[in-house]
Amino acid sequence: LSAEAQRVVDEIEEKEVDFLRLQFTDILGTVKNVAVPATQAEKAFTEGIYFDGSSIEGFVRIQESDMRLKPDPETFAILPWRDGRSARLICDVINTTTGEPFEGDPRYILKQAIARAEEMGYEINAAPEPEFFLFEEDEEGRATTKTNDAGGYFDLAPKDLASDVRRDIIYGLERMGFEIEASHHEVAQGQHEINFEYDDALTTADNVGTFRTVVRAIAAQHDLHATFMPKPIPRINGSGMHTHLSLFTEDGENAFHDEDDEFNLSETAHSFLAGILEHAPALSAVTNPTVNSYKRLVPGYEAPVYVAWSDRNRSALIRKPAARVPAASRIEARFPDPSCNPYLAFAALIHAGLDGVEQDLEAPDPVRENIYEFDEEKREEYGITTLPSNLGEAVDALQEDEVVQDALGEHVYEKFVEAKTQEYDEFRIDVSQWELDRYLEKF
Ligand code: GLU
Ligand code: MG
Ligand code: MG
Repeated sequence: LSAEAQRVVDEIEEKEVDFLRLQFTDILGTVKNVAVPATQAEKAFTEGIYFDGSSIEGFVRIQESDMRLKPDPETFAILPWRDGRSARLICDVINTTTGEPFEGDPRYILKQAIARAEEMGYEINAAPEPEFFLFEEDEEGRATTKTNDAGGYFDLAPKDLASDVRRDIIYGLERMGFEIEASHHEVAQGQHEINFEYDDALTTADNVGTFRTVVRAIAAQHDLHATFMPKPIPRINGSGMHTHLSLFTEDGENAFHDEDDEFNLSETAHSFLAGILEHAPALSAVTNPTVNSYKRLVPGYEAPVYVAWSDRNRSALIRKPAARVPAASRIEARFPDPSCNPYLAFAALIHAGLDGVEQDLEAPDPVRENIYEFDEEKREEYGITTLPSNLGEAVDALQEDEVVQDALGEHVYEKFVEAKTQEYDEFRIDVSQWELDRYLEKF
């Protein structure tokens, strides 16, 4: 047993943990669990835990269904909502036939992206800003789209219900080791954002999964449904997951910072962001992977639509946030939304950015005006293109972009395109309430 694993085994005993949830994610980013009694901890670390992967979305066919989970001891955390009797460990998935990492494991895909950066001499830091809505449940406990801090009789409630829930969510996150930077009510009614401290890209992707789980579990304790659906209510802001990224050199220097540059961004940073802009249409299939994602990416709601960057306004795909100290120089990708698989989304963003660095791509000038107000002519003059307007177009763009395909690896790429094509086709042939309202009586 490694020292780290031994420490976890000791802690499990000492804290009388009964159950271990071994976690991994499927291709769509859903957190999966295999629960084992805590007495299996040592075996889990030495031999791994076998499971049948054939029913996991995007994993394997029946013929090759045996998978092994290899827990990462660094990810040990006691779950705060189970009387402290359950703990989780995030796992790598191993192909039992070859003994190698399973190439359909999103965590492995991100590790590959990180390895490429390391070969180029960089470490990657990431910080996401996941936004979400809190909705009431109906009598049967099903989610509605009624916000709990909206008007109605809650106006008479003696206290701000939403801030109570948010406080409990923050306690829960802190007990799982999160360092919370800020939390606030977002622009829309019922919408919230809780920001946590940046970390290396892998830890941050792990954290996004944990974050979504904790937020949903604690909201449920308050009889509320937390949703990371990108656009649950039309005509008001949707939920993004802006992702801040920076590269550091091995000796801890921020490779994105340049004192002498007008924007304090180094050439590396400019090329990295140019790479993201170049691959944006294909990236969006991964960072905005649902039919609903594209209802958020429309003008007027602080979500990006146009492929441009800015050091000021929020209508661009990438923003350069003001940094108080050199170490904080970074770029903010504003298009990802919280329905994405964070491992795949970060992997794709990293590869696209590194491709820009490798090719020495030059970033266009930043756009300082509100691009929402540009007409087509002006956009053309500035050379600004738009993101795909639906999931179908995004998947088409992905099928034409080898850099983003390679970022996902063959297995994930194929399964992903298959799943998303099917999802979009189902949507396309469905008849929506909007159509019925509009046409049923008119024709
Ligand atoms: N909710 C907005 C979005 O869809 C972002 C608002 C903000 O700037 O935080 O991305
Ligand atoms: Mg926000
Ligand atoms: Mg932001």
